[in-house]
Amino acid sequence: MTEAAEEFDLVVVGAGAGGLATANRAVDLGAKVLVLEKSQAVGGSALLSAGILWTAPNLEVLRRIQPDHDPVIGPLIVNNYDVVKQDVLNAGVEVSEEWHDHLEWGRACKIDIPGVFARWSEKVSSSGKLKLGVTDVELVKEGDAVVGVVYRHEGRKQRSLAKGVVLATGGFQGDAELRQLFIGNGADDIAVRSNPNSVGDGFRLGASVGAAASRHLSGFYGHTLPSPVEVTSEVFLRLTLYFSAYGVVVNREGRRFSDESLGDEVTNQRLVKQTGRRGVLIWDDRVQRERSLAAPYPSGLTLDRHAEAREIGARTAETETLEELIEVVRDWGVDGAALAKTLADYRAAAAGEKRALDAPLPERPSPLAEGPFRAVEIQPCMTIPYGGLRIDGDARVLDRDGRAIQGLFAVGADAGGAQDLRYIGGIIFGFVLGRRAAETALDGAGE
Ligand SMILES: Cc1cc2nc3c(=O)[nH]c(=O)nc-3n(C[C@H](O)[C@H](O)[C@H](O)COP(=O)(O)OP(=O)(O)OC[C@H]3O[C@@H](n4cnc5c(N)ncnc54)[C@H](O)[C@@H]3O)c2cc1C
Repeated sequence: MTEAAEEFDLVVVGAGAGGLATANRAVDLGAKVLVLEKSQAVGGSALLSAGILWTAPNLEVLRRIQPDHDPVIGPLIVNNYDVVKQDVLNAGVEVSEEWHDHLEWGRACKIDIPGVFARWSEKVSSSGKLKLGVTDVELVKEGDAVVGVVYRHEGRKQRSLAKGVVLATGGFQGDAELRQLFIGNGADDIAVRSNPNSVGDGFRLGASVGAAASRHLSGFYGHTLPSPVEVTSEVFLRLTLYFSAYGVVVNREGRRFSDESLGDEVTNQRLVKQTGRRGVLIWDDRVQRERSLAAPYPSGLTLDRHAEAREIGARTAETETLEELIEVVRDWGVDGAALAKTLADYRAAAAGEKRALDAPLPERPSPLAEGPFRAVEIQPCMTIPYGGLRIDGDARVLDRDGRAIQGLFAVGADAGGAQDLRYIGGIIFGFVLGRRAAETALDGAGE
């Protein structure tokens, strides 16, 4: 039996980056908020993250990195960096100095994610409610408008009404069926590098009331990790191969399939389409010293990821010559003759000779000159999708005719379409869109 409905100003489904940022702003605006979280703790993927609040520093860089970005949401994210950084500072937690070469072009600072989430959760609990271990959330409609939710908590079915419901469940990466459907064949069989509870609930709830899907449904953020390795939260940050952007990556046919300098996030997406969804990352000793052993960003872990990967059973190689390396990699099922040709052509092109390459030569190609040479077999992993529910610049969920569904909002990874191939941040999409959703819903602009 459903209990009598309780009334709130705003209901937020999911208590990670987007959900807590929404609730924090709503409380600041004087609202009574209900936050529903599926797991037994707040934080979602953001709590597992490196805590880097970052994005493109200006619209020119946004256009260069993401030529097919959403013309409204992209600029909204970039232009609100300082605003949401101030929200974090207002929580009284530590925020590092900014750096301006994140992934070579991004603006970034490290924030104390556990600290800020603790403060925001306390705020919500003191003026509203935060419920953990919530299941079976469904939307309540009145006419065409979303007016609340029903859900199960502590064994009881409950009903809460509100001016707005904000979907912040963190994306669909944990659901093999949606991965296969949107990202394509083989994506059902890739590892997930995120919290385990983001399984497309927000997307399905939206669809249940007529929401449209966004653009860029086949794009996603994640990183390559060594293979074969069981992908658990212990290895998420330790074994991420950020430095693949400075090496050479080939598939089982021994051929390159991406300009590696576009970033590990791009190689990772393209790896899903390669035979067996496996590749090999090859680098020389200079890249080992200058990139692999160095911290990927200020405060990032400095460790020998090649040695770590070997220790936990991944396929790795370390040889004095490239010829020897090719022999080892051949045993992993890679076409050795094709790999020898790929590397010879790559080095010749890097030295300025004209060669036809399978993938464009990076602007600053890896010299592949100094032994010892290293290799590791790699696998793709998914952290969040780029696609999700279609929203407008006020975080309102849209139907297939482009009309806002009254009372329904989506933020963070549940809101899609803003990123295309390259990646311009994850936490920032929760913080900026969360803030916007709260303001719109409480202003009545969601109606
Ligand atoms: C290892 C790692 C490192 C990362 N590093 C960075 C970084 O440094 N910088 C950066 O910008 N991004 C980073 N990210 C990405 C970033 O964490 C995500 O983009 C961001 O957390 C997404 O925010 P969100 O609110 O959409 O989802 P989340 O933060 O994942 O929150 C979603 C919440 O919804 C809950 N939920 C799911 N379904 C339901 C339901 N039906 N009912 C109720 N609750 C539900 C989940 O349990 C979860 O708590 C990283 C991610 C990982 C995994």
